[in-house]
Amino acid sequence: MKRKTDDGMDYLREFPKMKKWINTCICCGKSGYNPSMPEVLTRNCGQGEFKTAGAQNIRKYFQKMSVNELGICEDCQRVQGKL
Ligand SMILES: [Zn+2]
Repeated sequence: MKRKTDDGMDYLREFPKMKKWINTCICCGKSGYNPSMPEVLTRNCGQGEFKTAGAQNIRKYFQKMSVNELGICEDCQRVQGKL
């Protein structure tokens, strides 16, 4: 059975630019999207801004996940007693 995150990784392979919104924890390797990702992402193709389905897709494939400045997710920070 395919896991949800595998679909997410397939999506990122197809749209590598979306990786900038993905946080990956250096501790547990879990990935999620950056909570500061805008509601709707737009793309500028020279003739103006176009709304893309990028943000919706990212939300479908990934959970919201924030990492600290060291790239460690909240779960791992909690485990380490830093939250
Ligand atoms: Zn982690």
